[in-house]
Amino acid sequence: MNRSEKILYALGRSYFELEAGEKLSKSIPKILKYLGEASKVDRIYIFKNHFNEEGEFCMSYKFEWCAENVSPQIEFEFLQSLPWSIFPEIEEALRKNHFINDLVSNTKNHVFYESMAEQGILSYLFVPIFSGRIFWGYIGFDNCQSEVFFSEDQATALHAFASTLGTKLLANKRKQKLIRTHQNYSFLLNNINDVVFRTDRDGNFTFLNKTWENLSKYSIQESLGTKLFNYFDHDHLSNQGNISINDFENPGGKFEKDLMLSVKDGTSIWVKLQGSINPDKAGNPESFFGTLSNIHSRKSAEDKASKLNKLLQAVNETQLSFFEQEDFTSPMNTLLENLLKITGSKFGFTGEVLYDEKGSPYLKSHTITNIAWSDETQAYFESNFKVGIEFRNLNTLFGASLKTGEIVISNDCKNDPRSGGTPHGHPPLYRYMGIPIFKGTEFLGLMGFANKETYYTMEDVKFLEPIISGYANFIKAIRINRRRKESDAMYRLISENSGDIIAIHDFDLRFRYVSPSIEKVLGYKPEEVIGKKPHEIFKEISIDTENIGGVQKRVIHHQHKTEGKDIFLEILSRDLLDENGKPFGIVAASRDVTEREMILAELKVALEKEKDLNRLKSRFISMISHEFRTPLATINSSTELIGLTLSSLRETGITEKTNTYLTRINTQVKRLTSIISDILLLEKNALEPIPAKLEMAYLNKFILGLVDDYFTKDNEKEIDVQIPEVDIKIMTDPTWLTHIVKNILENSIKYSPERQKKPKLQIQHLKAHYNIKVTDYGIGIPLDDQKHIFDSFFRAQNVSNIKGTGLGLNIVRDFVNKLGGELTFKSKEGKGSVFNIKFPYLIK
Ligand code: ADP
Repeated sequence: MNRSEKILYALGRSYFELEAGEKLSKSIPKILKYLGEASKVDRIYIFKNHFNEEGEFCMSYKFEWCAENVSPQIEFEFLQSLPWSIFPEIEEALRKNHFINDLVSNTKNHVFYESMAEQGILSYLFVPIFSGRIFWGYIGFDNCQSEVFFSEDQATALHAFASTLGTKLLANKRKQKLIRTHQNYSFLLNNINDVVFRTDRDGNFTFLNKTWENLSKYSIQESLGTKLFNYFDHDHLSNQGNISINDFENPGGKFEKDLMLSVKDGTSIWVKLQGSINPDKAGNPESFFGTLSNIHSRKSAEDKASKLNKLLQAVNETQLSFFEQEDFTSPMNTLLENLLKITGSKFGFTGEVLYDEKGSPYLKSHTITNIAWSDETQAYFESNFKVGIEFRNLNTLFGASLKTGEIVISNDCKNDPRSGGTPHGHPPLYRYMGIPIFKGTEFLGLMGFANKETYYTMEDVKFLEPIISGYANFIKAIRINRRRKESDAMYRLISENSGDIIAIHDFDLRFRYVSPSIEKVLGYKPEEVIGKKPHEIFKEISIDTENIGGVQKRVIHHQHKTEGKDIFLEILSRDLLDENGKPFGIVAASRDVTEREMILAELKVALEKEKDLNRLKSRFISMISHEFRTPLATINSSTELIGLTLSSLRETGITEKTNTYLTRINTQVKRLTSIISDILLLEKNALEPIPAKLEMAYLNKFILGLVDDYFTKDNEKEIDVQIPEVDIKIMTDPTWLTHIVKNILENSIKYSPERQKKPKLQIQHLKAHYNIKVTDYGIGIPLDDQKHIFDSFFRAQNVSNIKGTGLGLNIVRDFVNKLGGELTFKSKEGKGSVFNIKFPYLIK
């Protein structure tokens, strides 16, 4: 074989080597060896192009084959990252995909010449390698033995091979890239949470990743070839299920839609379908490529939130319609229906907690699912549903909440100790959840739900929280409204039926409301006064004002509008406070008190008259008394003179008889004198109080002397005197004290006509005071009269013909008080009386 034949043969082997599919890093050294041995050059090598860190276009020595005795250069550092700029003409030729087959001596580049000549290279062949359109590098052949050139044919053959190698390099590169992307891609494909799919133009699956099996529970196998859109819940597809790729506008564009995926196990989940349509060359849709993401939790949260929103709106609407129509049954029903749906319950109720007379709680429904199980219960339901059904049995699950105010969750009602069972015929109760409704600490209502398919949990309660607070507000509103209505009705009843004028004023006193009775009382129609201030209408003369516990009371003088007569109104008014305690108006009730005021005025006049009369009477009495004294004194002295004259007469018959008459005259004169002195004392005292003249005295001695002077007849004391052994010194007005004790003792004798037992006088020394106590066993004082016996001129009913004026005790008590003492008595009719005079030792 000649050299050319050998080269062609080597090239054949080299092509084969390339096709064998081994890694290029392994096959290239082999190829270089074949070619080297065949072409008998000293060295074959491959430079690979690249850019260095500075961005310079460089070449690096990568592969090498050396003939025997030729030293390898692959280790030389300087052959790495050689800038092409030092061999511009070579770069230029190779870049044009031209090979260079030349003698070293022909080169004009002396750097090149020197570096080649230095190695003893005489001739060379550089064959460029192109990877696609990119100048990848070149194969170099060095010849040191002779200046033997490669023939043009040989060089062309080698060039052709280099181009195949370049293609191979490109293919390899692409393949590697492909493998890399494929690896990434399939990793992604099977590990992402999204379903990746492709369909044909009719929407039949042609590809599905593993996630599909997890999401849809269908195997990839059974799904391939079936229609994508058959897997969606048709309610969520606009075209009632017959949807295909063609329905998506904008072929080639993006597509996105939230859909319900029907899972093999019968459940549904929310997915987001995203994808794009691949058009064919004519622009018609050819396939659909996309992903399905599981958005169920987000979507159901959104869904719940939107349901919740709707519910809250329902609560609001319920409130609104309540205020507008005062009937909340139907919106309340809607609310309950929604609540049942959202909690997955079969039946339930909402209601208000009320308290009976004994203070125990009961429930009154606002709305309740009709679970009537008989004609009777149905009839009951129908007649009571609107007004509210009352539940009072507390030994029930709802009763447990009523009793404690706590949430009751029972997922096994039958065995729950709190449950008292259900009435006969009642649908079976499996699960129950009762949520008490509070506003602050006020227990307002209860919501109950029953028979959810799954367990009730605190999650359900939590979820309903916003509704619960809305419902609490609602109940509060109902209550306020109810109270308002009640008080309105009461108010109207009172204001429209009472003769009093009931008025509400703004804070600036303008009438905001006035009851119709104003017309009857004052002659004004309500509409004449509303919006006006009182002084714009009435001429007001306030007689007097009182303030009793925030209520203003005053009497005002008006004139009747039409009749012109005087009207006196007694007005009670009070500030009206808002819920923050701020006054916003005044409520006033005015009563016609004309008659009362008239009588009062008359009484006043009468009282004045009486006072005048009294003054006259007392002046008269004192005048009479004074006038009586002189004639009485004359009578007295005259009788004494007659007595003296008579004693000189010897005619005993006449003397005796006359003496009897004289004694009688004397007694009566004494009596009259004593009466007159009492009256004068009383009058004098009433006009200007007389001061006491205090003196020192011994009490025992004083009393004994007094009894001796006045109450001893024929050496016998009429009084039983019981005095302590020790006498005490007292300060007193002896005249007054004599008058006091004398009067009491006189009474005790006077009102003991039967003389059963002597009255008794005792002196008692106590700590801070001493007592002079007079006890008698006489007629006593009737109970009814006891309160009056100190009044002047008062005498008890039982005095019969016992003489007296009813003045004594009045004066006595006055003297006792003036001496700092106290006069009290105890008496029983028919048994006797005890009068006690209590004096302090020291008189202030
Ligand atoms: P009088 O001059 O009537 O005795 P008094 O002021 O001394 O007036 O007493 C007033 C009334 O009190 C008497 O009229 C009598 O009814 C009653 N009274 C006073 N002391 C006694 C008494 N010791 N026993 C019964 N009644 C008495």
